[in-house]
Amino acid sequence: MKRADFIRISLLGGIATTSNMGMNTFLNQLNDWPDLGFEMPVMFVGHGAPNVAAEQNEYTKAWATMAEGMPRPKAILCISAHWLTHGQTKICSAATPETLYDFGGMDPRLYAMKYPAPGDPALADYLQGELKTSSLQLDEHWGFDHGTWCVLYHMFPKADIPVLQMSVDYSKSEAFHYQFGQELAKLRKKGILILASGNIVHNLGQAIFNEHARYEWAEQYDAQAKQWLEQRNDQIFLNRIAQGSLAKLAIPTPDHYYPLLYTLGMKDTKDELLFFNEKVNYGSVSMRSMVYGKL
Ligand code: ZN
Repeated sequence: MKRADFIRISLLGGIATTSNMGMNTFLNQLNDWPDLGFEMPVMFVGHGAPNVAAEQNEYTKAWATMAEGMPRPKAILCISAHWLTHGQTKICSAATPETLYDFGGMDPRLYAMKYPAPGDPALADYLQGELKTSSLQLDEHWGFDHGTWCVLYHMFPKADIPVLQMSVDYSKSEAFHYQFGQELAKLRKKGILILASGNIVHNLGQAIFNEHARYEWAEQYDAQAKQWLEQRNDQIFLNRIAQGSLAKLAIPTPDHYYPLLYTLGMKDTKDELLFFNEKVNYGSVSMRSMVYGKL
């Protein structure tokens, strides 16, 4: 699918947005939110290093373009690779989540940046009762880590849409994360944008902080993953060990890979697929991002 096609999706959604959604209403019950008559797209974003928040570059511009082209979300649910929990999935239920600086040695400008989007405690509470794949635990203390705010800062710079951040239960299998994504798919009709933030290739041990760094294995795995995604071969993503030696190098730990599985679970056969930011940064961090949406 070409970018022009995605804009067509956006226009279809945009017409309904103007009349049906308007400003966020903070209704207490998701069931009170009418079905929109269309589904929000779902996105996986390769977020890269936190420095990207303080920059204007090809990646941040693409994030902004994608946001401009979609219906205004009522709320955003962000699944971040930087909130790993064990034995439970947590969801941020703070009314005013903090911006977290969960990194070191980065651009000093980052520490002066904030993403002051509101939370939505009522929606978090509702989702806790509604979702069955995982027994969600509310967490008032976690804010927006850089997997969330560094991306949303560019996508929705006004920070005026409620954001809920959800953790990744690191004790669970690939199949669990995929199935959880399948359950979350019903939120698309309610105007919730579900953004999964990670990196398909993520090997920081091999990273070279030089913009010209290249590793053949990283680019090969990224290209292979693209092909599997185009073929809708979800099954192969559910067993990264069986993917072989390239995957072993590209995904030494699955923290940044698991968010992708939510996106795959949320899409359906009628969704078109659009890739963007198809590059590998620092030699071993794939910025490959994608959106699934309906024409
Ligand atoms: Zn990261």
